[in-house]
Amino acid sequence: MDFGKIALTREQLDLWDSASEFYDTYATEAVYDEERRSGSGYSDTLHKALGERGWITPTWRPEEGGAGLDAVSVRILELEMERRGVPDITFGTTHLVLTLVEASGSDALTRKVLPGVASGDIRMCLGYTEPDGGSDLAAVRTRAQRTEDGGWVVNGAKMFTTGAHNCQYTILVTRTDPDVPKHRGITLFLVPLDISGVEIRPIHTVGGERTNAVFYDDVRIDDDHRLGPVNGGWGTLSIALKQEHGQYEATGLNEISGGMVYAKPLRSLLWHATRWARTPGVDGTVPFDDPRVRALLSEIVIDLEIIRAAPGSMGRILGSDRLVQRSAELLDMIGAEAILSHDGAGALEGGIFEWAHRYAQGTAIYGGTTDIARNIVAQHTLGLPRPPKLD
Ligand SMILES: Cc1cc2nc3c(=O)[nH]c(=O)nc-3n(C[C@H](O)[C@H](O)[C@H](O)COP(=O)(O)OP(=O)(O)OC[C@H]3O[C@@H](n4cnc5c(N)ncnc54)[C@H](O)[C@@H]3O)c2cc1C
Repeated sequence: MDFGKIALTREQLDLWDSASEFYDTYATEAVYDEERRSGSGYSDTLHKALGERGWITPTWRPEEGGAGLDAVSVRILELEMERRGVPDITFGTTHLVLTLVEASGSDALTRKVLPGVASGDIRMCLGYTEPDGGSDLAAVRTRAQRTEDGGWVVNGAKMFTTGAHNCQYTILVTRTDPDVPKHRGITLFLVPLDISGVEIRPIHTVGGERTNAVFYDDVRIDDDHRLGPVNGGWGTLSIALKQEHGQYEATGLNEISGGMVYAKPLRSLLWHATRWARTPGVDGTVPFDDPRVRALLSEIVIDLEIIRAAPGSMGRILGSDRLVQRSAELLDMIGAEAILSHDGAGALEGGIFEWAHRYAQGTAIYGGTTDIARNIVAQHTLGLPRPPKLD
């Protein structure tokens, strides 16, 4: 692996300028205000504007709705997006589902979905977790049954389908054969969310996020919406799960750590804490002169490097654990002003310290909890036996 610095071409530097101008125009204060209000992880204006430039699927050819960019240019776009901290949850889930649709979707489905993803008109979300449990995905109970016309009818419920209210499709993990061992009776579908029998109800989290409970009541879908083989859903699903857990083969310049998604708020926290540390307080003292402040901020810089380097589930655990730990330590260090929320008079740095502490807690849960990630490291890295069943 080459860790050397990359010399950017004129074209790549120009792209960086365009990306910066783009976010100056579209990542407005109104976008961030709306996100604080809704917690949806999505901005319609921003997402569609990305689509117009071919920047949702930047490696695709322009005639496919992409921008024909190379891996370095894509990384430039990602870095600029990350630096701005724009709402990007639906952007992320759409990409996870896209991997599955490309790998396992019928021709009819890919023809329908891919152009819309590129333009921004089609967004997709993840319908894995059920009210009775998320960690044991194979215990899925949502039922899909064949109909006489070769289609399917679905009944069941999913919890925490984040972004469903802004998406056109969800992946749906269903039980198609209840009489075989649980991993073998699962089938995946890409289900339209605007059809009869689908009901979306909001859930708001302590971290300020909006997610959803989605109910499926006699929902009819045709077989073209199936992803992968009937009863072979566990294998199909592993493509998306590996991607989400950062276990996929590194392609181009993609980061291999499963923790980068959690490192984003930590990086943003560091940036705001450093600005706070440089600013003189009312008594004229500068926080940065205090060695304890310098030590904590330096430790966060080191955390970020370690998270980036830790592969797959190890990065996922570190990313969340460090965010939980450091956001609490920053509140302690900065004091009462850090506990004021965005709307509070005198809130520091737009209330980010208070928000980050709340937000951090959920990062230990979604995408598979850090407990489950520890099990994965124990089994796959240390070669330890599977943990005993809890039930
Ligand atoms: C904000 C938010 C957004 C989410 N977005 C989505 C989404 O878009 N799509 C989606 O499908 N899901 C989503 N989820 C659901 C998330 O993936 C699940 O909450 C998670 O997988 C845990 O499942 P559970 O909540 O049912 O907890 P359970 O599986 O019931 O677990 C309860 C506790 O037991 C522990 N535990 C369970 N099994 C084991 C074991 N074998 N070993 C050790 N400890 C164990 C867990 O770590 C946890 O602490 C979201 C959740 C949140 C909070």
